[in-house]
Amino acid sequence: MTIARVALPVALDRSFDYWAPEGLALTRGSIVRVQLARRSIIGVVVAVTSESAVTRELLQPIDEVVSLPPLPDDVLALCEFVAGYYQQPLGMALGLAVPPLGVRRALRARAETAEPPPPIAETPLNDDQKAAVDAIRAAAGTFAAFLLQGVTGSGKTDVFLAAAGTAIARGGQVLLLVPEINLTPQLEARVHNALPRAQAVTLHSGLSDGERRAHWNAASTGAAQFVLGTRLAVFCTLPRLALVVVDEEHDTSYKQQDGVHYHARDVAVWRARSRNIPIVLSSATPSLESFARTRAERYRRLLLPRRADPRAKLPRISLVPNRGEGARDGISGPLWHAIGACLARGEQALVFVNRRGYAPSLKCSACGWQADCPRCSARLTMHRDPPGMQCHHCGHQEALSRACPKCGNVDLLPQGYGTQRLERTLTQAFPHARIMRVDRDSTRTKGAFAAMRTQVAEQAIDLLVGTQMLAKGHDFPRLTLVGVLGADNALYSADFRATERLAALLTQVGGRAGRADLAGAVIVQTDFPAHPVFTALETHDYDRFASDLLLEREAAQLPPVTHAALLLAEAHRRADVDAFLHHAHAAACALVEKSTDAVTVYSPVPAVLARRAGFERGQLVVQSANRANLQRFVARWREALVAPPGKRVRVSLDIDPASFC
Ligand code: ADP
Ligand code: ZN
Ligand code: ZN
Repeated sequence: MTIARVALPVALDRSFDYWAPEGLALTRGSIVRVQLARRSIIGVVVAVTSESAVTRELLQPIDEVVSLPPLPDDVLALCEFVAGYYQQPLGMALGLAVPPLGVRRALRARAETAEPPPPIAETPLNDDQKAAVDAIRAAAGTFAAFLLQGVTGSGKTDVFLAAAGTAIARGGQVLLLVPEINLTPQLEARVHNALPRAQAVTLHSGLSDGERRAHWNAASTGAAQFVLGTRLAVFCTLPRLALVVVDEEHDTSYKQQDGVHYHARDVAVWRARSRNIPIVLSSATPSLESFARTRAERYRRLLLPRRADPRAKLPRISLVPNRGEGARDGISGPLWHAIGACLARGEQALVFVNRRGYAPSLKCSACGWQADCPRCSARLTMHRDPPGMQCHHCGHQEALSRACPKCGNVDLLPQGYGTQRLERTLTQAFPHARIMRVDRDSTRTKGAFAAMRTQVAEQAIDLLVGTQMLAKGHDFPRLTLVGVLGADNALYSADFRATERLAALLTQVGGRAGRADLAGAVIVQTDFPAHPVFTALETHDYDRFASDLLLEREAAQLPPVTHAALLLAEAHRRADVDAFLHHAHAAACALVEKSTDAVTVYSPVPAVLARRAGFERGQLVVQSANRANLQRFVARWREALVAPPGKRVRVSLDIDPASFC
């Protein structure tokens, strides 16, 4: 009898045996439907054998082989790597490679309806771009990792699209990963423009299940030559994959934080190596991980030091104090003045603040009470549109507080500035300006973001107020002024990557200004103008900043100099969290004593957000200078953790965590 060993997307480190009814064509990689605990679920066959440790009577049959191509060896190997490296059950990792099967029949892949590509005349590549394209082309058919590092507007996109064109002309497929769905429409347009004859499909969570399955199909049969997708697309079956590109490689949204933890950039590099093909990581502000690897000559760096459009200059940067002369409603005097002047010239301005809502907190002017989330150790954010108090950690909502529950005082003061408050302030100050707010609240409906972009491009908007949604990749020629508020918040953060992220964010937002013939200016409000992150921005010298930061990480023994794993425990009772982490800590220390692998085990501590959605949270970090040591250690440690003594504890292990908080 034929037995199929099936990996199922459940949180167990084992696969399940099923018998195959006569006539079912099964191979390793087949996608099948089976019963588990009387539920019908989709799994992947990891082995076909003739024996099972389970007695015949207890075995269940395979219900159906799904009519999709089986996952090929390279995708199976990729998922095995992810399961092993990130310490996740194999069935969960394989689940990432299976397209959605909610619909019975896939839609036919149709030509994507992107916005009509702007009629751009082919611009010949400049010398820096040509050199970069040549290097990537020359690496065809071998593994090579390139870091394409170019200032904002230097034409990185044209470089990787030119290299993609060659790969496709030679019969290959190209995978382009982008950090966000919002970036896909405009890139799609540029892809169609640059590669008019190639069939391109997108893969992201904004598609319906039917569309996603159709696009996956087109990619997995090789019909689609170009696949543009968000992090999940890294697992897509691509039989003729010849080039991988990771755009904005530093972006934190490549790290999946829940479910299966993985970093799509790192998984992409692994995939390129296993397929023996080149990979291009593109950024104006590379992650310290990639930066360090170019230093170690493991990645080759391709530099684009100038903006591609010869008319476009890098923007002028000014650092101004938050308060001081002329400051009002969170906006400094010089910024007020610059916005007024920009609008008077008929150009566009953007005010950036990384906080949605009206104000990050609400405080009683009499007794100092502040509105807290009942389920988290965090303040509630005040919203005006629609009015209410919201927790940005757990989603809790309540009515706007009218009076202080402690002393009855009705004089409650909003603290700090969110996008809604700035929108109101600016509307009052510039009643004739056409103002638009862009944040997660204002772009919730489908198509809202695209509509915003069209309006800005058509100059139906004078002034934008928004969060980091606006920071990336958008090209608005008449946008000449960018004001940045709240940048100092990152400097107070407990996250060791906060300044690295701030540098990337500021460079990105600043990069929105003056991309064409009009000169751009960036005004950053800060009370710490001497901080290296601002110096880097002022001098446009990211390398210097990154080198210094790398030295700091070295001194503090933090990633990427060391490798880390973070164990997070959550439970309703603090005592259960503590008991579990105590047990985990003791187990880790015992392992370290027995082994020669140099691993450091830190003491358990409460998480920075000590309570979230009613769960008490605690964590424990382990680290090693050697990745392989850490891997071996974590694998053994996990075995020791299987039976937590404190019941009802939710545990997750995060390898290469984005932060320790
Ligand atoms: P990046 O991705 O590096 O921020 P883009 O690829 O978006 O930059 O390019 C910025 C702008 O410069 C785009 O409008 C692009 O069409 C234009 N551009 C690219 N290469 C050239 C070139 N060689 N000459 C003139 N303009 C160019
Ligand atoms: Zn009060
Ligand atoms: Zn909450």
